[in-house]
Amino acid sequence: MSCVPANLDRCARQWDAVVVGAGPCGSIAALQLARRGLRTLLVERSDMPRFKVCGGCLAHGGIATLERLGLAHTLAGAEPLNRLVVCSDGRSASVPISRMLGVSRTDLDLALLSAARQAGADVIVRTAANVDQDGTCRLRMGADRRTVSARAVIIADGLGGASVRHDPAFAWRVQSGSKIGLGGVCTQGGCPDASVVMCIAREGYVGFAPLQGGRMLVAAAVDPKAIRDAGGARILAERIVEFSGAPICLPCDLELRGTPTLTRKRNRVEAGRVLIAGDAAGYVEPFTGEGMTWAIRTGELCARQAEKLVDGTFSAGQWSRLVSRELGAAQRRCQLVRHLVARPALVRACMGLIRVLPPIGGAVSGRFGRVAQGGAA
Ligand SMILES: Cc1cc2nc3c(=O)[nH]c(=O)nc-3n(C[C@H](O)[C@H](O)[C@H](O)COP(=O)(O)OP(=O)(O)OC[C@H]3O[C@@H](n4cnc5c(N)ncnc54)[C@H](O)[C@@H]3O)c2cc1C
Repeated sequence: MSCVPANLDRCARQWDAVVVGAGPCGSIAALQLARRGLRTLLVERSDMPRFKVCGGCLAHGGIATLERLGLAHTLAGAEPLNRLVVCSDGRSASVPISRMLGVSRTDLDLALLSAARQAGADVIVRTAANVDQDGTCRLRMGADRRTVSARAVIIADGLGGASVRHDPAFAWRVQSGSKIGLGGVCTQGGCPDASVVMCIAREGYVGFAPLQGGRMLVAAAVDPKAIRDAGGARILAERIVEFSGAPICLPCDLELRGTPTLTRKRNRVEAGRVLIAGDAAGYVEPFTGEGMTWAIRTGELCARQAEKLVDGTFSAGQWSRLVSRELGAAQRRCQLVRHLVARPALVRACMGLIRVLPPIGGAVSGRFGRVAQGGAA
C-alpha cells in the first residue's frame, strides 16, 4: 500500500488524534474518530497488507459490531464456521458454535484500514511511532524522522508493539507460565467443512480453520520451554497434533511465525493524553477465539474516550473502568479456560461430559465471543 503522505516531511505536525497500530483495534478507532470529524492520523509500522499470527475465527460479537458500524463489507469472503472439534489423547468431542467466521487477517486488516482511510483518517504505513504521555509522537520511516503532537493518542500496537516501552507507567505484567503464539497459512486444506479443529496436549494446543480458496489457517499457543525441549516450534506442533489423535497434519508448506508471550496486562491503560486498547492493553489466550472481538469493541469505545480527551471532558480513570466493565468477565472466563486446557485429565473429563450430554457443549461455547452492542457513550 502506498503511504499518505509518501514521506514524513509532508505529515502535519498537529493532530486531534494519533492512533498507533492498524490492526482491527487501531483501524476501528481511527475510523470512528474520523467519522466524528476529528483530524486523525493512523500510523502502522508494517507495510499493508501484512501477515498477523491469528486463528482467524471471528466470534459473533465481533461480527455484530462490524455490522453495526456499517462495515459488513469488510467480511466479504469469510468462511462460515459452525462446529468446534476438540481432540486430545486420541479422543474427540464436537461442539456446535453459534455464528463465527473464518477470516484472513491479511484481508480483514487491509479492508478495515481502507475503511478508516475512506472515513477521512490519514494513514501512514511502514512507520513506527514512539509516544510520550503529553501526546508527543516520534515517527520513524526508514531514515526519515518527524515529531508530531496530538491532543489524544490511542496505542493499539498489539502484543509486540514498543511505542510506549520507554515509559515505566505502562510496563507489562506477564503472567507466569504464559504461552507464546505460533501461526501460519497453508495453501492446502485438510480441515472438515465449516469446522475448527483444536488439538490439545499438556504443552499447548494447535488449531486449524478453513479459509477461502481452499486454504487453511493454523494457529497455536504453546509453552516456550517445550519448544526448546522439542528442538523447534514445528516439531512441537506436530507432536501436539499427533498426541491429540486428530485426523489432520501440518502441511509441508506451512511456515510458522511466532509472537511474544501471550498472557499479560499493562500496569495502566491510560495516562496523560494516552489511552491503550486492544491487545496492547492486555491479552489472555486464543483458545476461546475472542481477541479480535475485544480489539474491535475496545477500538470503538476508545475512540469515544479520545474524543473526550480532545474536547476536555475526559476524567482520569474513565477508560480503565470502561475496559474492565466491558471485558473483565470475558477475560476471567478465558483465564479459566486457559487453566482447564493445560490439564489433560480435565480436558478428558470435559470431552466425556460433552459426549454424554451434547447440549452442554453448545451452552458453554455460546457464552464466549459476546460483547455489548451499545454505541460508545
Ligand atoms: C496464536 C493466536 C491465535 C489467535 N486466534 C484468534 C482467533 O481465532 N480469533 C480471535 O478473535 N483472535 C485470535 N487471536 C487474537 C487476535 O489476533 C488479537 O487479539 C488481535 O489481533 C488484536 O488486535 P489489535 O488491533 O489489538 O492488535 P494487532 O492485530 O496485533 O495489531 C497491532 C498493529 O500495530 C502495529 N505496530 C506495532 N508496533 C507499532 C509501532 N511502534 N508503530 C506503529 N505500528 C505498530 C503492528 O504492526 C500491528 O499491525 C489469536 C492470537 C494468537 C497469538
